[in-house]
Amino acid sequence: MERIKGKAAAGGIIFGRLAFYRRDEQIVKKRRVAKPEIELQKYEYAIKESLEELDALYEREIKNIGRDHADIFMIHKMLIEDDDFVQRTRGIITKESCTADYAVEIAASQLAGELGRATDDYIRARTADVKDVSRRLIRHIQNTSEQQLIFAENSILCSFDLEPSEAVRLDKQKVKAICTCYGTVNSHAAILARTRNIPAVVSLGKALSEEFDGAEAIVDGYAGVLYINPDSATKRRMKEKREEEGRKHELLMRLRGRKNITLDGTEIQVYANINGVIDLKYAEENDAGGIGLLRSEFLYLKNDGFPDEELQFYTYRRVLEKMQGKRVIIRTLDIGADKSPDYFSNDSGENPAMGVRSIRICFEHPEIFRTQLRALYRASVYGRLAILFPMIIDPEEAVLAKSMAKSVCEELDAEGIPYSHNVELGVMIETPAAVMLSDELAREADFFSVGTNDLEQYTLALDRQNSMFDKYCRPHHKALLRMIKVSADSAHRHGKWIGVCGEIGAYTELTEVFLAMGIDEISVSPNQILPLRRKIRSLTIADRLDSLVKYGVIRPEQRDDYLSLSDGIRPASKNAQKI
Ligand code: PEP
Ligand code: MG
Repeated sequence: MERIKGKAAAGGIIFGRLAFYRRDEQIVKKRRVAKPEIELQKYEYAIKESLEELDALYEREIKNIGRDHADIFMIHKMLIEDDDFVQRTRGIITKESCTADYAVEIAASQLAGELGRATDDYIRARTADVKDVSRRLIRHIQNTSEQQLIFAENSILCSFDLEPSEAVRLDKQKVKAICTCYGTVNSHAAILARTRNIPAVVSLGKALSEEFDGAEAIVDGYAGVLYINPDSATKRRMKEKREEEGRKHELLMRLRGRKNITLDGTEIQVYANINGVIDLKYAEENDAGGIGLLRSEFLYLKNDGFPDEELQFYTYRRVLEKMQGKRVIIRTLDIGADKSPDYFSNDSGENPAMGVRSIRICFEHPEIFRTQLRALYRASVYGRLAILFPMIIDPEEAVLAKSMAKSVCEELDAEGIPYSHNVELGVMIETPAAVMLSDELAREADFFSVGTNDLEQYTLALDRQNSMFDKYCRPHHKALLRMIKVSADSAHRHGKWIGVCGEIGAYTELTEVFLAMGIDEISVSPNQILPLRRKIRSLTIADRLDSLVKYGVIRPEQRDDYLSLSDGIRPASKNAQKI
């Protein structure tokens, strides 16, 4: 038996088989061939295989994303059989006596170029579909399997690392757990695993070697341990632990329907962080009071091109409808850094986390931003929407984002399209600049949401993606906690509310600190809602004050004065009514 210790990224115990995933590049070279007719046969074969694959995808995705969205695979089928595309490819093979993969690539790029010049948005958007379709055909011509995401039942996906765009496409029916050599617990792939309840262990290092491909294994996502070829004593112990965790889970489930209220009556909202419609069932199962962060970029990562207004509208609408009037905070596009869709090339220098990312991309490409804002406002009539702007660094940016939202509303007015006039507009506090200017930002925003994952990386000068620096990670660092307090005070001074949506919201040792600061809402992965509720319901005001001293948010001599501060401990009713 091998026991490999990594970092616990998502809880749960899974018995399964290791399945290694290697990411391949598609290499297509021009080669002359003596018998073009063989290349024509390969092309025919690729068409047949691709069509069958798309049929299967269509059937599967109807269940996951609904018929409307699954229709994209039918469009791909039509493209593959498109007469013009087929004749071009065949023509290139015969005229140039070249390989079929090269011919497909050339024909597809010609077609994509023509579509890209079209004036109609819909037709232009099909260029990404042409590229996708050609990748699929080339894969079949080259006879390389779609390595990445097809897994057998009960697989434990093992890889060097995992990109969010890959994690988002995992089939949860088959992939029961994730293990990576590298990566951090705050990487987006890890966050995604937590949201979707997929046990995960990251940072297992080189010991997670491909020689174990296919081996029997157990993942303990609570302790961050992978057992390969486990012995019978370990199997027994893990079964017991799984049962024990199951019992704990049942106890937690009894907290459904209860309030998030301390023993002395302070109430706080606990919401769910989700990445798309598919996660709503976990939010519901765990009794989320609302959605505190919908990372809209996952819709973009899942797609093969920028999602158009209709696709976005239906997605946001479904989330709002399902939440039945509970607040839904949808964050506008936050791509760049580790979340980069293949179809968007964004040269952001050596350190993309500090380059053109997030709201900066939206400002540089207003058409992308406007499409999203239109979809959001159109959907707003179906529930209680709040829009959240990420990576804001000064009030001018908040004003610019708001003015773009306003101009979208004017456009909708002119078109006679209804939208809600009560959409709250918030900004994320995830840079030290935003904290320093939080007083001015609070004048512009309806609410704040503290993104501690980025705030920690920018405050402590630590790359959140790089597990080499984990030993320097200190989410309890008093600089970070004081920054949250400064932001909370600024928000409250202006009568605004503040939430925490970064991962430390779920650290229950800090719950009393957040309550003492008067944080109005905490948003966490769905399966962390009930543990947080349990913690909140066990606290008193004394615990909260002590925690502020313990974590260095206030000095010991300030403890007694603190109650009298206007922005100090806030009475329950005040908090509960505010938000
Ligand atoms: C954060 O930075 O804390 C946050 C919630 O956003 P993300 O993790 O998506 O960057
Ligand atoms: Mg962030």
